[in-house]
Amino acid sequence: MTLAPRSEFPLLAGNPDLCYLDSAATSQKPRAVLDAMRAYYEHDNANPHRGAYELSVRATDRYQESRDRIARFLGVPDSATLIFTRGTTESLNLVAAAWGRANVRAGDGIVITGLEHHANFVPWQQLALEKGATLRICDLTPTGEIDLDCLTGLLDARTRIVAFNHVSNALGSINPVREIATLVRERCGAIIVCDGAQSAPHFPVRFDALGVDFYAFSGHKMLGPMGIGGLVGRRSLLERMGPYQTGGDMIESVLDDRTTWNVLPHKFEAGTPNVAGAVGLAAAVDYLDGLGMDRVAEHERLILEAAIGSLGELEGVHVLGPPVSRRSGVVSFVVDEIHPHDLATVLDQQGVCVRAGHHCAQPLMRRLGVPATTRASFYVYTDVSDVVRLAEGIARAQAMFASPSAPRR
Ligand code: PLP
Repeated sequence: MTLAPRSEFPLLAGNPDLCYLDSAATSQKPRAVLDAMRAYYEHDNANPHRGAYELSVRATDRYQESRDRIARFLGVPDSATLIFTRGTTESLNLVAAAWGRANVRAGDGIVITGLEHHANFVPWQQLALEKGATLRICDLTPTGEIDLDCLTGLLDARTRIVAFNHVSNALGSINPVREIATLVRERCGAIIVCDGAQSAPHFPVRFDALGVDFYAFSGHKMLGPMGIGGLVGRRSLLERMGPYQTGGDMIESVLDDRTTWNVLPHKFEAGTPNVAGAVGLAAAVDYLDGLGMDRVAEHERLILEAAIGSLGELEGVHVLGPPVSRRSGVVSFVVDEIHPHDLATVLDQQGVCVRAGHHCAQPLMRRLGVPATTRASFYVYTDVSDVVRLAEGIARAQAMFASPSAPRR
């Protein structure tokens, strides 16, 4: 059984044989999200914040209501501290640019982990290079989880930023955010940045209980549209930060020789915002709340158990990452003698969509000692039958590649 009916997802309904196992890359969209965006454009579309006329006020209201709704979903008590961005990548770059450039000096430390998506790796690496700071990369345990002893050893009085993901996109590892936040606070005054791209879609998240300073997420991974996401931050930090981009809407007054900044959240939202995206994301969180985030997590756990069980029965298939109890709905694996790209191609021929490659986590692949993995990832519309098709597809690929005429890399 799926948790959400496939019939409510037009792309899945229109392709009944499609086995979509790439939700960690992006989720499919329910009709409710598409309808909400269409209704916005058909009835309420205008440039918000700018016009005195009623239609523009309506667009402004839709945008603000969406912000309030998404803030409620993520346990953000003050919705003005939820900045809309294009997604996790932009949110993390915002913190690196607006907080990092102003506060990190030569000799300071920035701590990240070997588990990060490039979006939570490269901005900090570049900031460290620009400022002459030291980038310290926390080791992982053999199961691909953050090694807390190593992390403890990397923190000192000069550590200014600690950034890590809530859930690894490549392995599904769920990191103990609260424990890490407490550890950091005991050891130093660093800001704590959490990449929530893979947590907000999959289980209940309350920003106010995580203990972090910044939390970044992407709408398209949680049933919403592409091009919208957010950064949640502590008000005291956001207020002290300068803007990330400058232009319309983010100003209070512009004189010939200087400019003053608008209040939160507008200070960080330069230019015409993605109102339809925000409306679509608000509809997505309505949909997720309708399912119940506890049930979403439980459904994915059942699929995950089935997947790990099925793949475990196949000889030559090696699942990477932590046990089910500390893992979200992601299974990364390697298959003896078959390159992940070849496997993904053979699976695609059978209508099974998986991702193969480094999953935007080259530093992690180096630590795992593999060039790439194949990754299957699950969501509310995934059914155990999808996992069965995955296992059958892998077995078929193994049979093909074992035959004497099979291509060899
Ligand atoms: N962080 C993680 C853990 C991710 O999985 C992703 C996307 O796959 C990102 C960051 C970047 O997200 P986006 O491309 O939506 O900005």
